[in-house]
Amino acid sequence: MTPYFKSFLAVTALLVTGFLIGTVLFGCVQRPLPHRDPSASWDQENLKKNDQGCPTAVYVAPNGNLTQCQLSEAAEAPKDTTNYFKSADAAAIYVVGKIYALSHYYEYGGVIVKTPKGYAYARPATQHHGMDVEFNQDPETFDGYPIVATYHVHPCLKDAFPSVFSPQDLSSSRTANHPGYVLDECTGLVHYWAPGDGYMDEDAMLKLGVSPAQLSRGVQISLGRVVGGITVDGVVIN
Ligand SMILES: [Zn+2]
Repeated sequence: MTPYFKSFLAVTALLVTGFLIGTVLFGCVQRPLPHRDPSASWDQENLKKNDQGCPTAVYVAPNGNLTQCQLSEAAEAPKDTTNYFKSADAAAIYVVGKIYALSHYYEYGGVIVKTPKGYAYARPATQHHGMDVEFNQDPETFDGYPIVATYHVHPCLKDAFPSVFSPQDLSSSRTANHPGYVLDECTGLVHYWAPGDGYMDEDAMLKLGVSPAQLSRGVQISLGRVVGGITVDGVVIN
């Protein structure tokens, strides 16, 4: 669920048995993926400078030695999937808040299902990428409860548009025919978009900062509509 990038290097990636398989969207050139393992892909000096200490940071650098924060399995993602909510909005806002409390660096995502007791979220998944996430949308996985929406978060990255559903987000929602929620970690606003909700017109995209060259390629992005929010620090992490 790649956020849309000004650099136009929006890619989707899947880490499979140690091999990175990348597809460059809207481009012809195979480029290095921008979201390799953070120990290799994050600018090391930047990481050291922005050492906030665990658990806010992914890495800490005591005495200049970069060390990954020890996130326990329990701390990796919320486990209280038996929480039930009166609406899908409420479930989405709750779970993205839990994710933000645990990590500002990684995209996490998952699905929201409807159960007889209320709406519930599936445990968030992450591949520890800053700009992409894959998660299970197999309808047979969740005890037969129907998937009613997906959720994911966009970390607050420079030169990104974390507020908008990326072309990949729109495409994925259309394919699965599920609405989606996305948390903009720069603003804390939770946006909602459903297939059929349309996309941003060219004037709005130009105003947002999409270049004419990008527009000429027919990109589609959408702010959706804001359904709620959480409190964030608004720190740009790169
Ligand atoms: Zn996304």
